[in-house]
Parts: sequence; C-alpha cells; structure tokens
Amino acid sequence: MRAFVLTGPGAGGVREVPRPVAAPGEVVVDVERAGVCGTDAEFFSGDMAYLRSGHTTYPLRPGHEWAGVVSSVGSGVDAAWLGRRVMGDTMIGDGTCRRCRRGLQHVCEARQEVGVRDGRPGALAEQLAVPASSLHALPGSVDAVLGALVEPGGNALRAARATGAGAGDRVLVFGPGTIGLMAAMFARADGAEVHLMGRTEASLRFARSLGFEHAWTEDELPDLPFDAVIDATNAAQLPARAVELVEPGGRVVYIGLSATPSTLDTRTLVLGDVTAVGILSASPGLAATIEAYASGAVDPRPLVGATVGLSDVAAVLAGTHPTGPAPKVHVDPRL
Ligand SMILES: [Zn+2]
Repeated sequence: MRAFVLTGPGAGGVREVPRPVAAPGEVVVDVERAGVCGTDAEFFSGDMAYLRSGHTTYPLRPGHEWAGVVSSVGSGVDAAWLGRRVMGDTMIGDGTCRRCRRGLQHVCEARQEVGVRDGRPGALAEQLAVPASSLHALPGSVDAVLGALVEPGGNALRAARATGAGAGDRVLVFGPGTIGLMAAMFARADGAEVHLMGRTEASLRFARSLGFEHAWTEDELPDLPFDAVIDATNAAQLPARAVELVEPGGRVVYIGLSATPSTLDTRTLVLGDVTAVGILSASPGLAATIEAYASGAVDPRPLVGATVGLSDVAAVLAGTHPTGPAPKVHVDPRL
C-alpha cells in the first residue's frame, strides 16, 4: 500500500510499504480522511521536541487525526467493529502503570502516540493498525471529514471546558489557527462571548467569516474584562500576557507550545487568584467532541481549506502547497 514516509528533516514522500496486519487486540482501518497538523510540519522541519528527546526517530510515518472504516480485526476483537466508521485516540498507554489505572493513559510514561511517538505508524497512508481499545465509533451524522476533526476538536473542547466559561462570561483566545478557532467554537457553543486575537488580517477575516465578530490584532484588543484566556499559539511571550489580561479569579488555559521556554511570574497568579491549566491531548475529550459534532452544536468543517492526496503531503508540510485562509488541510489517501 501507499504511505507517506518521512526519512529526515525536509525529506519524505509516498512510499510503497507492507499492508498492516491486525495483531491480537488490534484492528486495521481503511483511512478515509487524515488531517495534517502543526506537529507533522515540525516532524518535517525537524523541530519536533520528540526528535530531540529520542521518543521518535526517522524514518517515521505521521498522521494522528483520522477517520476511516474498520476492514479487519485481530484475535480477541469483537467482529461488530467490521465496517464501522471510527476514529481513534492518538494516545496509547501501556494500560498497566499507575497513571493508566487512574484513567490518565494520555500521560502514561510508556505510551505510544499514533503517528507521533515510539514508531507507531500513522494515518497518512491507505491503512493503519490501532488497538481496538483506542477506537471511538462515529454515529451516522458524523461523516469522515468531521471524524478526522474529532482529534483536534478534543484538544480544543478540553481547552474550552477548562475555562469553565459559559453564558455571561467573556473568553479571549490567542491564535486563530485550527485549535484556537475550534476552542472558540466550543466556548461559543457553551454560551460564552468569545474574542480572538491574531497576527494577520487574513486569519482575523477568516475568524469573522465564522461569526467571530470580536477578532483583533494585539494592538486593537479592547480593554475589557476577560474571565478566561486560552493560549493556542507558539509565541513564547503570550503565556505571560494571558495572566496579565485575565480577570482576577479567572482562568488561563495553555495548549500552545513555544520553541523556547515561556516564563510567567507566579506572583501574578497568586495576587490575581488565577487558575492556570495545561492541556495535553484530546483523549479525555473525544467522546464529548463526537457528541457535539453529532448534535450539530459545533460544526468545524469550514476549517478544512483543502483536501489533497498523499502525493501532495510533502508540499503541504513544506508550506509550498497553495492553501486558502482556512487553516486545516485534509488528506484523502484514495485520491
Ligand atoms: Zn501507563
């Protein structure tokens, strides 16, 4: 079968690889859609932190936002999965350690991450194999495009819910990229007044096209009380800015990662009685995200600006493939 393989920084393309076989407890999925994410671009550039920490080495097969149909099951797996449209949790804990037993498999020290960590091949391929225990069945109203948006959506939903914001609250989101816009959508669906702060006019225009009328550059940002601030950027100075801007008693939520350490003065947290939260992964938010998509409470499909075949992935990762203002690129490996 065909798969996208990265062999080193800036080097990668479509290769013919052996078809996956469903091991005991695992299934093979025919991929219908896979999203390309900032993490994948960092693998392409060589900047991804796991490359330095040794959690991942080239060659690697990326792709961790996906939806597809189960085409074979390994021993011990319920045959009812066959033919089901599914998405899967990126985080695969070892299932035995203290964290896993406490329901925190997404921070298991020994975890694999599909398409990201420890050599588990990802979804930028015609097929992938994953543990059946990582699967979430998608209801009929969640198509393959929405299905491949569940993983980024789960991250965004967790960020939005971590603000605790609802009707009568005002939330500020730094970064109108995929995660920032989705977090804004979930916060809006929960009843909050949402403001977005971005750098480029094009990204702010796109945010406004999604109904976010309060979309500002940093210079334009109005002097309003913000009950919560979400940082969904890679800017090292913004985590501290979030604490300056949030109301006393409010919450700051960190989901972005900068390339250099971002520092903040904890006296600002203490003196403002501010709660700070970090979010890693979609895992505990996947089921709620599928529910929100199935009910229509949130529809992130306008974020998909282009759908390409595997042969275009290298250009997408290199930033040379033309894309519109919508931030997410999807791959259909059947194209
Ligand atoms: Zn574990």
